[in-house]
Amino acid sequence: MKKTPTRLADGRELIYYDSADNVVRDAVDPRPLEPVATTSETRYDRLLGDVVAVASHRQGRIYHPPANECPLCPSRDGRHTEIPAPDYEVVVFENRFPSLTGDKGRCEVVCFTSDHDASFARLTPAGARLVLDAWTDRTRELSQLPGVVQVYPFENRGEEIGVTLGHPHGQIYAYPFVTPRTALMLRTLAEHRESTGGRNLFDDVLADERADGRRIVLSGEHWTAFVPFAAHWPYEVHLYPNRRVPDLLGLDEDARAEFPHVYLELLRRFDRIFGDDQPPTPYISGWHQAPFTSADRRDFALHLELFTIRRTSGKLKYLAGSESGMGAFVNDVPPEAAAERLREVATP
Ligand SMILES: [Zn+2]
Repeated sequence: MKKTPTRLADGRELIYYDSADNVVRDAVDPRPLEPVATTSETRYDRLLGDVVAVASHRQGRIYHPPANECPLCPSRDGRHTEIPAPDYEVVVFENRFPSLTGDKGRCEVVCFTSDHDASFARLTPAGARLVLDAWTDRTRELSQLPGVVQVYPFENRGEEIGVTLGHPHGQIYAYPFVTPRTALMLRTLAEHRESTGGRNLFDDVLADERADGRRIVLSGEHWTAFVPFAAHWPYEVHLYPNRRVPDLLGLDEDARAEFPHVYLELLRRFDRIFGDDQPPTPYISGWHQAPFTSADRRDFALHLELFTIRRTSGKLKYLAGSESGMGAFVNDVPPEAAAERLREVATP
């Protein structure tokens, strides 16, 4: 992998990731961009004990541009986008409209391919591997920034999820605090260790799912994907490396080499859940990684959580009264049935 860092006209960092070592990326961003005045702040909720990022400048961001104005396509035919080069493989750059800024963290955009009409599921294994390497590199680099506590690479896919740009892309949030879900997991991890005389909760969950088998979606030599026993979402899959590591940096070459095959198969199955005549399945997919500051980070298990908010053809699961008001989820699809469906739609 070759990495070429550069700067956009307003000073934001942009990094090209290329599979070939001889690629030259020297295009200059000619746009007359003013630096964005960013004003995000984090506020502590005294009742819930968690943090909310407040980012007022985001209201001006680009919303559903037509394909010929896509800011994530390469710069071609006299049209200048966020990516100065006329083509690229994988690109990461600082978001112009970040939710987290300055010493309050950082938000980056990851373009998975220069092909506007592609999707992650349609990448080649080599293309998906390059994205994995970019996520890993960003985790390493962002962990060095002052104040960054946790790095979360994720993809929102589909208008139903609120995606404002159709080009295949994801984001990376570098948080200046431990996120609420991770804080909860660290708490249950510690409680389990106490109550079992030192056992690891992630190891036990993975071993139990493998032994039970009913919710296993697919298992490779180095990865296991299952629908969790208490899935919150209609179709939800958790993907764990079989050898526990705290973050992407801990994955060995065997796991890294197998990941593209496992993940692409999962995404392709997701698109088939509701039938071939249905529009692509909207989903959220994100990496859970150990916070850098956590004393027991070695006990945390890197894993990916993938879920859709679609519960049946043409119907979405809304976070209504119980979920939004109380954080108490009601799931209409039994996890065992979801797992069975996800096995049925395996690539032949
Ligand atoms: Zn595009």
